[in-house]
Amino acid sequence: MLSLWSAVFVSLLLAQQPAQPPQAPAAPAPPPPTTGRPPTRADILRGEYGRYRANNDLLFYHLDVRVDPAKKWIGGKNTIRFRMLKDDTRIQLDLYANLNVDKILLGTTPLKYERELNTVWVDFPQPLKAGREYTIEFYYSGNPQQGGRFGGMTFGKDPAGQDWIYTACEGQGAAVWWPNKDQWRDEVESMRISIAIPSALVDVSNGKFLGKTDLGDGYTRWDWTVQYPINNYSVSANIGNYVHFEDRLPSTGSGQVTLPLDFYVTPGNLEGAKRQFAQAKGMIEAYEHYFGDYPFAKDGYKLIEVPYSGMEHQSAVTYGNHFANGYLERDWTGVGISPKFDFIIIHESGHEWFGNAVSAADVSDMWIHEGWTTYLENLYVEHRFGYADALKYVNGYKSKVRNREPIVTQRGIHRSPPQDMYFKGALFLNTLRSVVNDDQRWWKLLHDFFQHFKYQNILTEDVIAYFNAQLGPQLGRDLTPIFNQYLRRTDLPVLELAFNQAEGTVAYRWKADERDFAMPIRVGTADSWQVIQPTTDWKVMKTSLNQDTFDVATDLFYVNVSKQ
Ligand SMILES: [Zn+2]
Repeated sequence: MLSLWSAVFVSLLLAQQPAQPPQAPAAPAPPPPTTGRPPTRADILRGEYGRYRANNDLLFYHLDVRVDPAKKWIGGKNTIRFRMLKDDTRIQLDLYANLNVDKILLGTTPLKYERELNTVWVDFPQPLKAGREYTIEFYYSGNPQQGGRFGGMTFGKDPAGQDWIYTACEGQGAAVWWPNKDQWRDEVESMRISIAIPSALVDVSNGKFLGKTDLGDGYTRWDWTVQYPINNYSVSANIGNYVHFEDRLPSTGSGQVTLPLDFYVTPGNLEGAKRQFAQAKGMIEAYEHYFGDYPFAKDGYKLIEVPYSGMEHQSAVTYGNHFANGYLERDWTGVGISPKFDFIIIHESGHEWFGNAVSAADVSDMWIHEGWTTYLENLYVEHRFGYADALKYVNGYKSKVRNREPIVTQRGIHRSPPQDMYFKGALFLNTLRSVVNDDQRWWKLLHDFFQHFKYQNILTEDVIAYFNAQLGPQLGRDLTPIFNQYLRRTDLPVLELAFNQAEGTVAYRWKADERDFAMPIRVGTADSWQVIQPTTDWKVMKTSLNQDTFDVATDLFYVNVSKQ
């Protein structure tokens, strides 16, 4: 058989010297400043990990509230236990300004506090001592803001006219409906959630169900325990006329024999849910294959019907995808793969691994949630339907990328990244797999990366350092410029190709903002790719191909190509 590889190509790196007129070395351009509106004081209060947040470490919350559907009212307390890291007399907590602070107690001592926008500065009469643990009780009440998917606490009705109340607050922050230390860096270690509601209703919150208690006044309290660190915004109440069914996944982590799968839906959707939620098992199996055990085994896994599309509440994923495949019955990436699975089950549950177990420490680095989870969709497709479908699926995301601003935004001002964090983030990870060019190594890296950072809150620098430590020595390169170009710069790298027909050569280099950008890429023809090692300086190689026939593996590497 004719080997196209040897017949078509003579891979000859002629010289490291530039063949085109040399250009003066470009000074590395600094990353562009954050675009968009300037931050407000509210943005700073929300996003900055300032002195009065950094002086303590959250240990435990007990959110214990009563919800009155008729009055659209919530009231109760959050018991907050924390360890002081420095001596200080003040801490920063958060509660939306429209909700009342009823009192804040240290033991029996009422504490003074000062409200500023959605922040509550809590003052202590005596200095709190570093290393010591303290517990305060924060009583509050009022009518929380309502809204859509990420809009707070919504008091609605189900199709049968029953009360249906749900929270989703990643955008606005959990302080929209309960008092807490509302930031991303410090997750509470564990939590108890107690929600008292009219006795005819059901509350499904995060964690393991402990039981319910009839309070004797027409209300019943539902108690849940969260046995892992949890993001504030992930804490949820889903209150409705739910029916419950369950399943089990054999053998999982944490020494358990089975992983409980619990499903809660409105009665009219029970049959549809039994059919559609069967996908949960295959989803968990796929992600466990790549990353290891489901990370919240002691708390179980739940899917809970809601009227919005869905949200990754930890161990209590909310679902509103019409009990149909695709995303809201659409072909999500438009390439025929998305109708094979339920996008919300696959995506939102993927966040159990990236978002909930591995969490970003600032919203600026939210690609760690969304880019990774979008890539997890792709891994699910590969595991269930094969590599060809996965490649098609991930490349379907290109139409959604804008390349208008960097994915990582300014820290400390709670500035959500652009939508590119999802799709460009996933395409970047698919590109990194091609850079590694060794799937065994890639799968091991993904697994080890997850295991290393499980239950931690990290930044992009942590991801880069880990990848460099694992891959750098073998690849013989520092991957930082590659990460920076895709995450901290706006434009994609462009592979510039200059053909010289007379010589039978092509000159090539990367056009990139990162002066040290150096990324291998496959070129030539698809049935016999050849790996070249372009940098931002010109190199020249022989080729028997011309401008029209010389191809670049742009489905494996998310780059632009310019030919001349
Ligand atoms: Zn997501």
